[in-house]
Amino acid sequence: MAVLRIQFASEQLYHDGKLLHHPLVEGFLQLEACTRNLTGDDSTIPQVQYATVTRLIQRTEHSMICQALLDGTVEVVLKLGLSPSSRARIQVEGDHYEARLKRFWGSVVPICYGLYEGPVKRPSGLCNGISCIMLEYAGEPLENFVSLPREDKRAIMTMLGQLHSVSVQPQKFAARNVVQKNGAYRLIRFHDPTLHNCNFNGDFEWDEPCSGRLGCSELETAGVNMVAWDPEDIGIYLDAHGISTEDDCGDKEREIHMLVQRVTGLGY
Ligand SMILES: [Zn+2]
Repeated sequence: MAVLRIQFASEQLYHDGKLLHHPLVEGFLQLEACTRNLTGDDSTIPQVQYATVTRLIQRTEHSMICQALLDGTVEVVLKLGLSPSSRARIQVEGDHYEARLKRFWGSVVPICYGLYEGPVKRPSGLCNGISCIMLEYAGEPLENFVSLPREDKRAIMTMLGQLHSVSVQPQKFAARNVVQKNGAYRLIRFHDPTLHNCNFNGDFEWDEPCSGRLGCSELETAGVNMVAWDPEDIGIYLDAHGISTEDDCGDKEREIHMLVQRVTGLGY
């Protein structure tokens, strides 16, 4: 059984002054690979792998996301579920990476290096499980879509369309779902995607005003929110839905972004 040993700096183990309540083995948080191996080839996985946490990205009472260096060479992200609900989300994400998303590893979504879990015995004798998914570090999330070139917005929409083609639809798709590293984009956050029957016809019709012909209203909404079509065409779309574009001042594209943000309430 392959083992993942995670090494934290001592201060990274604290949250709100409380120590991570899972005992360490020789200074490491030790987890075992799930019996089903996400890479599909056990023989290539060392029996013991070491991940050194370099940065805490997010830490709550129930979960932890960190950046780490795997075996001193590979930059990875570790998502740890510490509570039952958080563990369930990690399991859901692992299931999606293993099944529907596998064909997109390293192109549309990060490579998934494995799913790990413990239970770990606490000093009290009780077991408090941990689930962990280890992903390729594919960069930092975008803060917004406003400053992206139009062709990048369309490339991201094309990637999103590929996910829809396998029925995966991230909920409330927004900039936080997109990471970027060295100019390459990847889509992330699959712990709560909805599965939907997509009727997208495969053609975004970038040279046409968006008008409900795509066959998938969710994709169309994501494209409008991102202003992936020409702002003039977005204006026509919004006008058709009874929304004023207030186009008497300012940069048209930024103005449309702000208008869409006000209308949808989505963060960028
Ligand atoms: Zn769809």
